Amino acid sequence: MAACDLLLRGGHVIDPKNDLDGIADVAISDGTIQAVGVDLDVEAKRSVDVAGLYVTPGLIDIHVHVYGGYNGWLFPDQHSLPNGVTTVVDTGGPGWKDIDDCIETIVKPASTRVYILVNIVGAGMIGKPEQDVTEMIAEKCAEAVQRYPEHCIGTKAAHFGGPGWESAGGAIEAARMSDSIAMIDFAPKPTRSYEELLERMAPGDMHTHLYASHIPLLDEDKKINDYVWKARERGVLFDTGHGGGSFWFRIAVPAMEQGFPPDTISTDLHKSSRMMANATMPATMSKFLAMGMSLQEVIFRSTQRSAEVIRHPELGHLTPGAEADVAVLDVREGDFGFVDSGRARMAGRQRIECELTVRAGRVVWDLNGRSRPDWSGAGDYKSLE
Ligand SMILES: [Zn+2]
Repeated sequence: MAACDLLLRGGHVIDPKNDLDGIADVAISDGTIQAVGVDLDVEAKRSVDVAGLYVTPGLIDIHVHVYGGYNGWLFPDQHSLPNGVTTVVDTGGPGWKDIDDCIETIVKPASTRVYILVNIVGAGMIGKPEQDVTEMIAEKCAEAVQRYPEHCIGTKAAHFGGPGWESAGGAIEAARMSDSIAMIDFAPKPTRSYEELLERMAPGDMHTHLYASHIPLLDEDKKINDYVWKARERGVLFDTGHGGGSFWFRIAVPAMEQGFPPDTISTDLHKSSRMMANATMPATMSKFLAMGMSLQEVIFRSTQRSAEVIRHPELGHLTPGAEADVAVLDVREGDFGFVDSGRARMAGRQRIECELTVRAGRVVWDLNGRSRPDWSGAGDYKSLE
């Protein structure tokens, strides 16, 4: 009989990449997935009964804020791991001037895997400089991305109110120079339209905040604009980026009804979006369930698809040999309600909660202590393994 370090037993495994959707065990050893299958014949150092729960690849949140003084950033671990999130992308916290500091103070100390989209603004997301076009230098942004290929996956533009293309255009240019991807947060102006933005973006570039109230995703008759469909057909990607002000049911519902889901589900998590809008991954995913997306698709757009979009296809699945990042989720049934960025409510029948998180083979979150021995049989214990 084979041996393993950790066995998650009897859960409902959803692993879109491997086409798994049913009851199975997941065996983990040396920080990697060892095997996934029904009634695995393995001797486990630690065996955890997860019957009645869903076992998925660790969630990947491609839009969070874990660096930058101005907009209420949050250190990743406390906000990712308890929510089943094992990989995050900081979108534009650091710019090309402070990328070194971000990597030393946030990326390296975190247990969460943290990737960075480098801000086209040298000083990063810290308020006033975000409007200063002399801070927006594509060559320097591209150089920062290329200096840290292990950590930096592309470029970011956000919050720009000027008339020109220095911000969005600069981030796209820097992405081409560094052979990476650009994520654009955009507010249309008479001098620069959403349509032109989508035309300027290459396949693989992302517009984030697709269901924001300031984005003309829908025309006056609430139909998806033709140029938006064309951009998607061409390979331009659309990210959720829920946030405190960028996710509105009155836009999301008609868009979803017309078959326009986001490519990726993400939170734009920071101090204020954590509050009324409760923009965690499980809550944001639950909002998509409430709008009629299937659980399988919700998981796909929070794991495998997210990994592909950030060009890290080694993540987001439970293939044997992959690093063992796993989320164990409870999909509770009942009367629930969800609040959007405009503070409107949608009733829902299902709420996703994270029960247990495994990061690189280690249990890092365990809501109900399922992986722990009962105290009464643990003797005169001090700190249990
Ligand atoms: Zn953001």
